[in-house]
Amino acid sequence: MVDSVYRTRSLGVAAVGLPDQYADGKAAKVWQMYIGDTRSRTEEYRSWVVSLLKQHQCTNVLDVACGTGVDSIMLLEEGFKMTSVDASDKMLKYALKERWERRKEPTFDAWVIEEANWLTLSEDVQKPGNGFDAVICLGNSFAHLPDFKGDQSDQKLALQNIASMVKPNGILIIDHRNYDYILETGCAPQGKNIYYQSDMKQDISTSVLWVNNKPHMVTLDYSLEVPQPQGSMNPPETSKFRLSYYPHQLESFKELLKTAFFGKCQQLVFGDFKQYTPGKNEAPCYFIHVVKKIA
Ligand code: SAH
Repeated sequence: MVDSVYRTRSLGVAAVGLPDQYADGKAAKVWQMYIGDTRSRTEEYRSWVVSLLKQHQCTNVLDVACGTGVDSIMLLEEGFKMTSVDASDKMLKYALKERWERRKEPTFDAWVIEEANWLTLSEDVQKPGNGFDAVICLGNSFAHLPDFKGDQSDQKLALQNIASMVKPNGILIIDHRNYDYILETGCAPQGKNIYYQSDMKQDISTSVLWVNNKPHMVTLDYSLEVPQPQGSMNPPETSKFRLSYYPHQLESFKELLKTAFFGKCQQLVFGDFKQYTPGKNEAPCYFIHVVKKIA
């Protein structure tokens, strides 16, 4: 049974003093139900990521925000060699359980799962040779890193650490919600969720915190209707939790990425998996950046 709890932020503190928004396990549990009821990402997502990785001849992939393991599991099923890390042991618990249950499958048996923080990534993760063929950071994960110091220095350090894990000619795939649209309109784009095909009814309310005339934090309050087990006479419960994000805007995030690669990169931007041309597309829900490290 899932408790109906209104979570406040930052109940736990991760190794380097940053809040683990998943520390009390509540969001982790509901998240796992939210994405777990379909067992996978949408087909569109799967085929887009898989063909991109194949196109770049990637086999050895690092997932730096694996959470409960959704992307990693999808890629293991496609035969990729995965190293999956996350700062939250409450989230990793689900990935570890899956690895154990599927240990008879060779790719799952070889699956490396570690606790690691982007701010200390080079100490926390063993880099193979000159790096991984691809690094992924998906599901709006990077926006979880706040800007407490007001100069984005943590985000710059984290991105530099993440970029350092990519081998020359390898790629980084990293996404964020369309915060440009959220800041402009006060609500999230209404398009379908490209990532999850969840049947759970959901409502997300949005608030924006501005500091010194700059958008500093976007808070999303999720209400998810949790179905009861089959045969139960009880009505569905509503589970509420709150997650806060740094609202990365498209142009400034592109610059942050370029800096993280010391300018030695080629950058592409996709809006909901389609090549993005500003003004031409309907407002996408997510921007996905593909950055190739130039040798
Ligand atoms: N990619 C997964 C997880 C998304 S939730 C999915 O799409 O379902 C975002 C994840 O980022 C959480 O599991 C959280 O613990 C992790 N995270 C947040 N800050 C982090 C940090 N500084 N270092 C490593 N992981 C972090």
